[in-house]
Amino acid sequence: MPIRVLAPELINQIAAGEVVERPASVVKELVENAIDAGARRILVEVEGGGSELIRVSDDGGGIARDELPLAVASHATSKVSTSEDLAAIRTLGFRGEALASIASVSRFRLSSCERGAIEGAELCVDGGIMGVPRPAPPRQGTVVEVRTLFYNIPARRKFLRSEGAETARVTDALEAIALSHPCVAFELRSSGRRLLDLPATDEPRRRTLDVLGTDLAPELIEFEEHFPELGDLVVRGFAGRPGIARPSARAIRIHLNGRPIMDRLVLHAVREAYRGLLDHARTPTVALILEIDPREVDVNVHPAKSEVRFRSQQGIHSAVRRAIERALRGANLVPTFVPDAFRTSAPFGSGMASSTHTASPDFSAFAALSAAAGVQRVEAVAASEPAISEVYIDEFPFMQVLSGYIVTQDADGVVLVDQHALHERAMFAMFMDRLQRGPLESQRLLVPVIIECSARSVGALAEIAPLLARLGVVARAFGPRSIAIEAIPTLLHSRRVDAGAFLSDVLEKAVEHGSLVSLEAALHEVVDMMSCKAAVKAGDELTRVEIRELLRMRESIERSSACPHGRPTSIRIARSELERRFGRS
Ligand code: ADP
Ligand code: MG
Repeated sequence: MPIRVLAPELINQIAAGEVVERPASVVKELVENAIDAGARRILVEVEGGGSELIRVSDDGGGIARDELPLAVASHATSKVSTSEDLAAIRTLGFRGEALASIASVSRFRLSSCERGAIEGAELCVDGGIMGVPRPAPPRQGTVVEVRTLFYNIPARRKFLRSEGAETARVTDALEAIALSHPCVAFELRSSGRRLLDLPATDEPRRRTLDVLGTDLAPELIEFEEHFPELGDLVVRGFAGRPGIARPSARAIRIHLNGRPIMDRLVLHAVREAYRGLLDHARTPTVALILEIDPREVDVNVHPAKSEVRFRSQQGIHSAVRRAIERALRGANLVPTFVPDAFRTSAPFGSGMASSTHTASPDFSAFAALSAAAGVQRVEAVAASEPAISEVYIDEFPFMQVLSGYIVTQDADGVVLVDQHALHERAMFAMFMDRLQRGPLESQRLLVPVIIECSARSVGALAEIAPLLARLGVVARAFGPRSIAIEAIPTLLHSRRVDAGAFLSDVLEKAVEHGSLVSLEAALHEVVDMMSCKAAVKAGDELTRVEIRELLRMRESIERSSACPHGRPTSIRIARSELERRFGRS
């Protein structure tokens, strides 16, 4: 075929491929236009999941009759005119492409009336072929109607999902926009049925709860932080407690200057903030609203504008992470939970753990722990049982049950603790804290431990040398497929952790990650592993002194509500729940 310049309809249809994927993307573009036009009320109506009809009506500024053809022309916009404008976008739209694209793949009608005009005008476009403007009633604002989307691109139309699925996406898209525009009222109707009704409010909190569900209110921790040094960045929103995390990545909603985005950098920062509070398969429920000087961000990197580029990627990442971390730190994250078995209230009075010391773990780890966690020791720690009751008389009672759990109480109720999970978390906190201050102490082995491994692992050894040095591990290649371990962290040594198994695991992690993506992330993983290896096991019987130490850690370490893998360390049964169950309320 000879080379030709494409016909304008075809150009628009190609552009539509990027911007208009499905009804929800049409709704997004039309609603953004309405918001840019200053609308206070926006009504979205759909039929057939939007594939039959999408109608968006607003009460915004409207379009002048003689500008209607321009509105649906490609690369025509009222929002930017110079490249300086492009560098500081304050509107949701700026590409001047949406209406042209949508009109090229549908039967399209645009009807509008400017504020104060005595008559409105409308324009129909059929598969990109424009009609002529005609008079319309003087209803202030704009109505855009999109019928039989993709009727002229059957291949695309075929890919639309069921009515229910497309309607759900439309709902999601509208909710996403509504979240960062609380001052605008939104309504969604599907074949006449009202699916969403979000009244305007000047309280962002109210809108967030309207969208996420008012019943979630107790599970959401509100935060707001300002970072003047980062282009007046404001980071605010709600961080959900770990209990309401979801299996879908969509549980994280991110907004930037009024625009829902799905930015990988920001998503990563949010997940980092929850590191260790959730297992990997779950996504925290978070509504994150970012406001920043538009010159600090480029929104023109993605046709649907869902990804952005920040001038200070690193700065934004750490601001988001810090803001959410602080919110979580300030909150009590122990999940309240009512086991069914609890209905028959097994008495706690029996079966107090006997304090035999035979099986109890090496105490030095506890000693190191409390020092790291800044816990002041009340007495010299002895392996025998001193008169505990005198020392801890003013504190809450506790006991070990089923040789793996500790039962105690706090101000809000009865607390059940998984000793391994909590000790693991405590070890993790201690290791991380120690690592801030320099490499871990290492213990030379009397005889080097030789391990057999893959050539690749031997190669990885050199790559992770800095990591090993920080951990207090001394190891060297001993042959093409073997490694000699000469020293390991004292803490692992004293907990009788197998040096060979430990280093093999570290190397496996390194190989799995290609090289080490970032030292920090690798360190987290390895420390995770070290903590697990060093922690008391579920079957270990603990002395009362040890249990006491462990419970103290719960108070003083960060994120003690979950182990480093995100499993809970503790579960609380609220006093109010007990009262209710025993008929005392
Ligand atoms: P963009 O939003 O990128 O400018 P669009 O194709 O979405 O491009 O819209 C083109 C132009 O049509 C807008 O710049 C605006 O001037 C006008 N317009 C579109 N929708 C509306 C609306 N609901 N109310 C008022 N003006 C609108
Ligand atoms: Mg637009």
